[in-house]
Amino acid sequence: MIGKEEKKAVEKVLSGPILVHGPESEEFESSFASFTKAPHAVSVSSCTAGMHLIYHALGFGQGDEVIVPSQTHVATAHAVELTGARPVFVDAESTTGNIDIAAIEAAITSKTRAIAVVHYLGVPVDMDQISNIAKKYSLFVLEDCALSVGASFNGIHTGLLGDAGCFSFYPVKHITTAEGGMVILKDKSLAEKIRLLKAFGVNRSHGERKIPGEYDVTSLGYNYRMSEIHAAIGIEQMKKIPTFLQKRKENFIALEASLSGLDGFRILPQPINETRISSHYCMGILLESKLIDKRPEIMNRLKSMGIGTSIYYPHPVPHMSYYKEKYGALQCPNAELISNSIIALPVGPHLNNLDMETIAKRICYVFSEL
Ligand SMILES: *Cc1c(COP(=O)(O)O)cnc(C)c1O
Repeated sequence: MIGKEEKKAVEKVLSGPILVHGPESEEFESSFASFTKAPHAVSVSSCTAGMHLIYHALGFGQGDEVIVPSQTHVATAHAVELTGARPVFVDAESTTGNIDIAAIEAAITSKTRAIAVVHYLGVPVDMDQISNIAKKYSLFVLEDCALSVGASFNGIHTGLLGDAGCFSFYPVKHITTAEGGMVILKDKSLAEKIRLLKAFGVNRSHGERKIPGEYDVTSLGYNYRMSEIHAAIGIEQMKKIPTFLQKRKENFIALEASLSGLDGFRILPQPINETRISSHYCMGILLESKLIDKRPEIMNRLKSMGIGTSIYYPHPVPHMSYYKEKYGALQCPNAELISNSIIALPVGPHLNNLDMETIAKRICYVFSEL
C-alpha cells in the first residue's frame, strides 16, 4: 500500500540536506501521538528496538524476570533476553490467543520486574486485569502493539493502558515505513531517557551543540534511530490509517459472515464493541483436530487459487529451539494448539468487497473438497 504520496515524500527527503534526526521524524512522532492521544511518542528503528530500549532504560539485566506471552512473535521475548533478564512464559487463553491472565500470578516471583503483553491479532488484552496485577506486585507493563494500531480498550488506545507501548512498521503491519517502530508512553522522564538511549546516550542533539561535534556521553546506548526517509513514508501512511482500519474491519465482518457455519474450523473471535476495539490484523481460523495434518495442503491449495495465508506464529516462543535449549521444554498447551492449527486469512485494505467474496468462495470450495 505504497502510493505516489510516499514516493514523492521520499524524493523530497533525498533532495534535502537532512537524512536523520530532522523534521520528518518529529512530524511523524507528533502525528502518531495525536492519532493515539499519546503524551509522548518516540520514533525508533523497529518495534524490537523500542522494547529493548525500554528494558535497557529501566536497567533490567541478569537476575531480573519479565512475564512474556508464549503466543507471540519471538521479538517480545528477545527484547527481554537481550538485556540478560529472563523471559518467563505464560500460556495463551484459548478463546482469543491473548495471554492467559489467570495464569500470570503463579509465574510471578521476587525477581519479576515487568509484564509484557501482546494484543494478539489486534484484539486488546483486558488491561484492567493486567493493571490490577501489576499494581499489586509493583510491576512495569509493556504492551507489544505490533499488531494493534487502531485497537483500543475502554476508549484508550493500546500502548497507553500499561506503562509503554511499542509499534511496528514492518511491511506486513497496519502501516509501514519499510522498517521502523514507535514507542508511546505517558511518563515524560522515561520518554526523555529513551530519546537519549536510542542515539548512543549522547547528551546533545545536533541542534543543541555550540561547536559542531562537541558532545559528551552520559550513558550506554544504542543506535536505534529512525531515518528521515522512513519517517517521511510514515507521515503519508498516517494520513491513510483511518481508511486502512475501516477497510480491514469491513473485510473482517464480510469474511466472518461468509464463513460462519462452515465445518472444519472455528474463527478466532474479534470482538467489536464499545469496550474492546480490534485493529483486525487478520482473521485467524483454527482447524479442527482431524484437519490439522492437512494445514500445509489447505494453505497450498489456497495459494494456487491466488489467496495468500500465513501462520501467526509457527511455534509458541518457548518451543523455539533457542528458548527450548536454554530454559527447557515448557508446557503451553493453548499456545501450542493455536500454533499448530491456525491459518491466518487476509483482510487487508488492498482487498475490496468483490475480493472478499472470491476469497470466501474459494475457502468454502477447498474445505468442501477435503
Ligand atoms: C512483527 C512483530 C514484532 C517485530 O516488529 P519489528 O518492527 O520487526 O521489530 C514484534 N511483536 C509482534 C507481536 C509482531 O507481530
